[in-house]
Amino acid sequence: MKKIALFIAVVLVIITLLCTTSFVFAEQSQESIDLPILMYHSVLKSKTGTYIVSPAQLEADFNKIVKEGYTAVSTEQVINFIDGTGTLPSKPIMITFDDGHFNNIYYAKPLLEKYGLKAVFNVIGKFSDFTTNSGDTDNPNYSHATWTEIGELSHGNVMEIGNHTYNMHNYKPRFGIAQKYNESDEEYVKALQNDIGKLQKILFENTGKQCKVLAYPFGKYSELAEKTLTQMGFRMMFTCNEGVSTITRGKPQSLYKLKRINRSGKYDVETVFQKIKSK
Ligand SMILES: [Zn+2]
Repeated sequence: MKKIALFIAVVLVIITLLCTTSFVFAEQSQESIDLPILMYHSVLKSKTGTYIVSPAQLEADFNKIVKEGYTAVSTEQVINFIDGTGTLPSKPIMITFDDGHFNNIYYAKPLLEKYGLKAVFNVIGKFSDFTTNSGDTDNPNYSHATWTEIGELSHGNVMEIGNHTYNMHNYKPRFGIAQKYNESDEEYVKALQNDIGKLQKILFENTGKQCKVLAYPFGKYSELAEKTLTQMGFRMMFTCNEGVSTITRGKPQSLYKLKRINRSGKYDVETVFQKIKSK
């Protein structure tokens, strides 16, 4: 009887050890992960450039993203991974569109839907206010998304909304969110809170959601801005630093200076993928 009890005890210990080990391995393989993030701006048929791609280029990218086995992930999936409340697919990728161009809704959204992808649409408050108030909407050549369109997007799961500041997408009087020379830290923090908070409020009114992601205009950032933004509830900040970031579970700060790959209309699709795969 004693021998049987001892045998059962040993078997139980072995099973426990095996389970724990495989659990640890499974956890480790998801501990850190490379997250390529593509940055697009305008999508136009008439011309291409450093910040403009054609619908055909966009479709070629999307087609290859799917063919290469990448899964486009949402900010929520990334945040859940960091918080330990969710996992990511083995080859995650993020697609971002900056500046809130209506042509992103016109050309990119149907393509995202066609390929089963999703993207973050980083809007500039002042530009969307201008288009909304002018009534000159829905022109892919120059319109920005209206608040109604932004609200509609936020209720689907193809394009989620990011904050790209209300009116700090300028070179003057400050470069993006940069601190001015004659500005105290206190004044600077207040200016950030006022401007970015203003767009947060408008977004909440139109989407019913608390936006947790911000794209720094022109990629300009500062430590004080990062501190202010995290205090305001932001969880992910996109820069324009070229490259692929590695994000780590349990490290919220690995989402604070996310690198991106600017998808220039001057690249061919192979060049884009070399950048996605390079570390
Ligand atoms: Zn921008």
